[in-house]
Amino acid sequence: MKPFSPQQVFFEPDAFEYPLGKKLSKYFLSTGVPVIKLKNNRVPTLHKDDPQRRFLEGKKTLVIGVKQSFRFESCRPSADYQFPLVTGCPGLCQYCYLQTRMAESPYIRMYVNIDAILDSVAKQIEKKPDLTTFEISSTSDPLYTEHLSGAVAKTIEFFGNQPQGRLRLVTKTDLVDSLLDLNHNQHTRFRFSLNTKNLIQKLEANTANLSKRLTAASKIAKANYPLGFIIAPVYLYPNWQDEYLALLEEVQKQNFTSLSFEIISHRFTNKAREVILERFPHTILDLDTDKRQPKYGPYGHIKHMYSKDELKEIRDFFNTHINRLFPEAIIEYSI
Ligand code: SF4
Repeated sequence: MKPFSPQQVFFEPDAFEYPLGKKLSKYFLSTGVPVIKLKNNRVPTLHKDDPQRRFLEGKKTLVIGVKQSFRFESCRPSADYQFPLVTGCPGLCQYCYLQTRMAESPYIRMYVNIDAILDSVAKQIEKKPDLTTFEISSTSDPLYTEHLSGAVAKTIEFFGNQPQGRLRLVTKTDLVDSLLDLNHNQHTRFRFSLNTKNLIQKLEANTANLSKRLTAASKIAKANYPLGFIIAPVYLYPNWQDEYLALLEEVQKQNFTSLSFEIISHRFTNKAREVILERFPHTILDLDTDKRQPKYGPYGHIKHMYSKDELKEIRDFFNTHINRLFPEAIIEYSI
């Protein structure tokens, strides 16, 4: 697949103080892509009255910025903490959690002060005597912009030198070639997010197809990274068992020797339902709240989950088939 190529680029004023900001400014000016220098860090709201256009244009808009806050949010169950190198994603997955998290500002913001971000990570690692794990894919798929920043490569090599730090990242792309020869020291677990061919085709526009993701996973395995797969979201539809089984069998054909799996069932909030139906009015996703079981979070926040029986069915299904097809694999969690 092709890496991200924005249609317009905004620069925060402080971005020019960093070598990467200067380099990107020179690069985009040479390509003829409209470059807009912001007076402050606020990006103007695009197409206020047309949410669908705002969404699609936001997904093609890049903001070059400086990360100001270095607070580490928890990232359970995937890792101890998360931190972003990028926020927002050019992918167009209809069930993506970013639909709500970045509902009003769906553009892609890439940070140029990577050294400062990694310094704060080093300090966070020092706070704990044992291993600390960090996820960098909670607010984006960071590989779409890697050709522009090199930030993921730098972060992987940084973690390669951290005896007590481990990195985790997830992608739905196949943009891995620039990461294969790094000194990762097996401190980065590389996971590919997978779904059935049917759902990838209908719900995950602008991502790599299944076969490309598996080819990229083979390259990552050969480069000796710890490898895993996230099956997410597991969505129940007629024939789901046959199609998820076909997916697992397809993975098995690659003969990976050591793997981790994470299984995440489909869920949505009221806000997600509203935003998804506005952006994708013809979606095949069934967002009927009457068919789901509400789960109340803090502040009265409701997530519409599958019923307890359905969740058990999903857990049993994946436990059975993963244990049978990949006897050495670890299922890290199933939620
Ligand atoms: S690739 Fe990942 S982060 Fe990007 S839109 Fe799809 S699910 Fe969201």
